[in-house]
Amino acid sequence: MAADHVDVLIVGAGLSGIGAAVHLGRDCPGKTYAVLEARGAIGGTWDLFRYPGIRSDSDMYTLGYSFKPWTDPKAIADGHAIRAYVRQTASEYDVERHIRFHHRVMRAEWDSATARWTVHARRDDTGEDVTLTCGFLFTNSGYYRYDSGYTPRFPGVERYAGTLVHPQHWPEDLDYSGKRVVVIGSGATAVTLVPAMAERAAHVTMLQRSPTYVVALPSRDPFADAARRWLSPKAAYTVARWKNVALGVANFQLSRRAPGVVKRFLRRAAKGRLPAGYDVDRHFSPRYDPWDQRLCVVPDGDLFTALRAGRASVVTDTIDTFTEHGLRLASGEELPADIVVTATGLNLLALGGMTLAVDGADIDLASTVAYKGMMLSGVPNFAMTIGYTNASWTLKADLVATYVCRLLRHLDETGQQIVTPLAPDTDDLAPIIDLQSGYVLRAVDQLPKQGPRAPWRLHQNYPRDVRLMRHGPLTDGVRFARAGVPAAATSGGTDA
Ligand SMILES: Cc1cc2nc3c(=O)[nH]c(=O)nc-3n(C[C@H](O)[C@H](O)[C@H](O)COP(=O)(O)OP(=O)(O)OC[C@H]3O[C@@H](n4cnc5c(N)ncnc54)[C@H](O)[C@@H]3O)c2cc1C
Repeated sequence: MAADHVDVLIVGAGLSGIGAAVHLGRDCPGKTYAVLEARGAIGGTWDLFRYPGIRSDSDMYTLGYSFKPWTDPKAIADGHAIRAYVRQTASEYDVERHIRFHHRVMRAEWDSATARWTVHARRDDTGEDVTLTCGFLFTNSGYYRYDSGYTPRFPGVERYAGTLVHPQHWPEDLDYSGKRVVVIGSGATAVTLVPAMAERAAHVTMLQRSPTYVVALPSRDPFADAARRWLSPKAAYTVARWKNVALGVANFQLSRRAPGVVKRFLRRAAKGRLPAGYDVDRHFSPRYDPWDQRLCVVPDGDLFTALRAGRASVVTDTIDTFTEHGLRLASGEELPADIVVTATGLNLLALGGMTLAVDGADIDLASTVAYKGMMLSGVPNFAMTIGYTNASWTLKADLVATYVCRLLRHLDETGQQIVTPLAPDTDDLAPIIDLQSGYVLRAVDQLPKQGPRAPWRLHQNYPRDVRLMRHGPLTDGVRFARAGVPAAATSGGTDA
């Protein structure tokens, strides 16, 4: 039986996959497409994570889609509001009927003779294997494993008689009222959980090995509120979005050029929100520079409020061992705990775990170079969405989807079927993600690389990428061909 065929196959029905489908429907209305989603729900991250307080840590004027104004007055939004926004988008733009749930994509094989991908998926609900073909493969599978979060091996953990929880697998019925809770970690998840759990727990301790930069921001944006009073929802959204883009870029550039100044500013801001005499340097002054890792945002300073009220505390130390009733630290201190939450991070996973082959040869992702941060050298008719590390993910996701649509129209207009980035002629390659966070360092050697110059270099700069992706050339560093030209004939050659 012939496999189902679509022009474009989107993998993933999270924030990016739904956005990609909307862009495709609007910019390439003649194209057929399907969305294969491993889970049984729309929303990805915003459906998976259910821990107390789950929320964005960037503002929704930039985490929202370019085409759908975020109208909720909360700029830093709760997880369920973001999930509802993504679902509403899928329904409003008629994407839902294109989604095939419980389809986990395992492998995709490109054939230059037919200019098609054959995509193999497994149905998680029935165990059935499903095969589809498509002309263009567009992965929007996020960046981490869904089945397991990262938990380091803790000595003595088997002795612990309390409840151990990872935020990625939050038990719906976990009752923490009146309980002593220890949250291990210092990242975005830990700083979200601590104030949220402190509302009902007896006490919450955030146990960190080393500090993170924590920045208080208002959960409502007075500028956006004012804009909404005077302008249409679309215009108000656009100005709030650009205001936040400009602030984000300025903040990042300043952090890179004058890290000492930004460090001092962040320290002073934290100190001002902490009780008198608090050891700011021990608990809130990281050894690394701002933006070597993502900054942690706390809306309205909720973490600092919980610390000031004595409902929560921070301990900076290392774990010697779990005991039956909690944790013993290297300093000898004992932390009794009824519940321990391991907010220790994610396991990075490229392309949702799927493997790729081109004309019968397996692709080793680590030896590919990312083109404009969204295609891979030597891999035809393929794009992937990887958001910014220093700004909201969706800003980049929107640009990638726009670019893919431009590329598809260009292929049609020029009578070509295949577009392949040509590997840059350089050894000067760097990791695709330039953060020093543990979850990045653990996996970076398995990921594609980036080159030293455009179109191989990731600038992590939205205004610059708007020029490059919305208005820049489509023909630099790639080769176009008709069906029948082997992909091997299109590799090697352009300077980076
Ligand atoms: C707790 C948390 C908070 C975050 N907060 C922010 C924030 O405030 N701002 C920000 O910019 N970013 C944030 N991020 C990053 C966040 O993941 C992105 O903002 C955004 O949600 C990514 O959307 P996505 O659709 O690309 O990926 P995901 O949300 O991960 O969705 C990917 C989808 O693809 C599906 N999928 C994966 N592999 C396959 C496969 N092989 N076959 C079929 N389907 C597959 C998954 O099931 C999932 O539905 C946060 C991440 C986490 C974990």
